Amino acid sequence: MNQYEPVIGLEVHVELNTKSKMFSGSSADYFSKEPNSCTDPTNLGLPGSLPYINEQAIEDCMKIGLALNCQIADVSRFERKNYFYPDLPKGYQISQYRWPLCKNGWLEVEDKDGNVTKIRINRVHQEEDTGKLTHTDGQTLIDFNRSSVPLVEIVSEPDFHDSSQVRDYAKKLQQIFRYLGVSNADMERGDMRLEANVSVRKIGETELPNYRIELKNINSFRFMVAAIEYEIKRQIEALEKGEKLTQETRGWNENKKETFLQRSKEEAHDYRYFPDPDLPEIRMEESRVKSLESGMPELPEAKVKRFISDYGISKANAQILVDSKELANYFEKTVEDGKDIGVSPTDIANYIINRKVNIDEVKPKQVVEEIANRKVGVVEDEGEIEKVVDEVLMENEKSVDDYKNGKTNAIQSLIGGVMRKTGGKVNIETVRRVLQEKLES
Ligand code: ADP
Ligand code: MG
Repeated sequence: MNQYEPVIGLEVHVELNTKSKMFSGSSADYFSKEPNSCTDPTNLGLPGSLPYINEQAIEDCMKIGLALNCQIADVSRFERKNYFYPDLPKGYQISQYRWPLCKNGWLEVEDKDGNVTKIRINRVHQEEDTGKLTHTDGQTLIDFNRSSVPLVEIVSEPDFHDSSQVRDYAKKLQQIFRYLGVSNADMERGDMRLEANVSVRKIGETELPNYRIELKNINSFRFMVAAIEYEIKRQIEALEKGEKLTQETRGWNENKKETFLQRSKEEAHDYRYFPDPDLPEIRMEESRVKSLESGMPELPEAKVKRFISDYGISKANAQILVDSKELANYFEKTVEDGKDIGVSPTDIANYIINRKVNIDEVKPKQVVEEIANRKVGVVEDEGEIEKVVDEVLMENEKSVDDYKNGKTNAIQSLIGGVMRKTGGKVNIETVRRVLQEKLES
């Protein structure tokens, strides 16, 4: 078993959360809407209708390309990918083939031991989604609400050699989509879909295997890993038996925990791509790309690095906190609040992570105070606390005035003063109460 090496490439589709469809005006926000209520003549493929390009979608696609270190093409073009299926009213999908919007990018994945693998990205292109078929009781129902929702496809080179690299890469992509705000990238809802292409070769060989098995319609990271693992084993066993593998599309049966044949090479489509004559080519000006580049938000990887260097927290903690933009912002706000009263970023990071703080319910200030409270070897004698409080009030006239003039926030720095003088050995709630009593008397 060990003399084989898996070779895997990943295709990722992500639906953009634009207001309107890729080539017309009906709503792209179709989730849980009444079937066929988000449609118009263009995405129903009615005769006489003409498409026009959704500029926001193009911008979002470029943002994804830039985040993945791609070149943005000077000239790109839409092509028709022809095939017949009931969920495709025009008889073709508008996609990109020879002239994608973004190409030649990369993204790095890192394993537990810190080994970094660079995954090359062949292209990031813009296309449209299809309608949705529902098979019930011998009937098939068609809902065109999803028809022509903007879809971006990200195609990697076959640079993965195990399933965990694929999972890490896919999760990183999901995080990037969310940071960019271009998609919810929810796997269960189908906002984000994965197709893994899997083959195996003898270790030491450098040429690509002359076949690949495409695993389609997998709607969770876990199923994808399971399907890839299963495939690697199945293929090695087949090769060991002297069988010859050919190109196939397979699905994942979660009940049986195995892949099953959906389509073999003989049935592969000839899509007869050609440029869509109804749409202009896109000429992208350098200045447009530059301005998009300068408006890019800080992305997860950069944020992790900054959290480590600015706050001195561990890499593991930084990665957890950067998991979502909201959590990362929450952490930074808490660090800001903790400065005044000498609560360290490391303590804050540990607290938020270990206690699984609910950031929608607990205020950053509460976290800081909780931490300060727990640190104390607690001086309980109020007389003693009052003495320190009086000193601090004398020494900080400005904060006292501020407080009396309505800037109640000034109490934070006074609390900080008491904490410093006592080496943090007092209960912060007691300090706050004593301070308030004195300030308001
Ligand atoms: P298609 O439209 O036929 O799916 P794409 O070019 O969109 O073709 O995607 C091909 C995918 O298959 C890419 O992710 C590529 O890296 C991957 N791939 C190509 N050859 C192999 C191979 N021998 N083993 C595994 N993956 C491969
Ligand atoms: Mg493909």
